[in-house]
Amino acid sequence: MVAAPKKAVSGAKVERLPLSRFTTLGVGGEAEVWTVSDHEQLREAMEASYRILGGGSNLVVADAGLGERVIRLGGEFAETDLEAAPDSTPEHFVSGWVGGGVPLPGLLRKLRGLGLSGLEGTVGVPAQVGGAVWMNAGTRFGEMFDGLFELEIAAPGGVRQLSPSDLPWGYRHSAIPRNHIVTRIRLKLSRSTPETVGAKMEQADLARKGQPKMRTPGCAFKNPGGVSAGKLIDEAGLKGQQIGQAMISPEHANFIVNLGGAAASDVHALLALIRQRVGIQMELEYELWP
Ligand SMILES: Cc1cc2nc3c(=O)[nH]c(=O)nc-3n(C[C@H](O)[C@H](O)[C@H](O)COP(=O)(O)OP(=O)(O)OC[C@H]3O[C@@H](n4cnc5c(N)ncnc54)[C@H](O)[C@@H]3O)c2cc1C
Repeated sequence: MVAAPKKAVSGAKVERLPLSRFTTLGVGGEAEVWTVSDHEQLREAMEASYRILGGGSNLVVADAGLGERVIRLGGEFAETDLEAAPDSTPEHFVSGWVGGGVPLPGLLRKLRGLGLSGLEGTVGVPAQVGGAVWMNAGTRFGEMFDGLFELEIAAPGGVRQLSPSDLPWGYRHSAIPRNHIVTRIRLKLSRSTPETVGAKMEQADLARKGQPKMRTPGCAFKNPGGVSAGKLIDEAGLKGQQIGQAMISPEHANFIVNLGGAAASDVHALLALIRQRVGIQMELEYELWP
């Protein structure tokens, strides 16, 4: 029998749910999931040990689940205000607030329709806005911090609004501490046309040809010393290698895909096999929870 959802004092929805529902890989055991709609609910959710979940597109969650709370951003944190703010100029469009829980692909579709340029390089990243900012997601065509004007970050100590210049950021990294939550951002973009923005997005998307379309948490390993991790795994003869229902993609060796009922333990076993067979130090691209 599934327990009915609880309400926290603040009104946040609290449910015990399998995290496989929220990860692009589709694996992960249960945790207490707090879906929060406003700052009061978020404050209460942060009163015990927690993790913040975005689009689940960079995670392998353990089959045994998690002992900590998992916070999901809903309500006002999933809203998008793309009205031009008074900070806008003839060249630059500055937006209202965009919630950290907004799915990035939907936001990019809206920017394309409005002819607003600056985030085209993040096309195809299946993240939420907050997760994409936290790790400065992107591609060689551009990254999340390219379009940032202001951020709001919540932590147990309070809520702060910052300019990106307050925070060092770099390649797939920002200085936002772990479990500080990106609740909202404002964008600074160039005014262009839907056709030009669309053409840039299509160019960035074309570079994804050959990536598998199956359930996956994206690339498994960072490229060691500039060498392609996928090439190293391919040369080790591991394309198509399967453990349980997890497989090293035959299309692109740096992707592990879920064939249906994969367990996190299958993915861990494939990661160990890759490390052993490739024989050089390779750093994991995605996060293992816990
Ligand atoms: C098919 C595929 C293609 C991909 N391509 C790319 C690519 O081209 N470039 C790229 O950079 N990445 C890529 N990724 C990886 C992934 O999309 C990025 O790492 C993304 O930034 C993860 O965001 P998320 O919202 O899904 O975060 P999650 O996977 O849910 O979480 C990842 C981390 O972000 C933290 N986090 C999530 N939300 C917030 C928040 N609101 N505030 C603070 N921290 C938060 C989590 O606590 C966790 O530490 C790809 C993944 C897939 C599945």
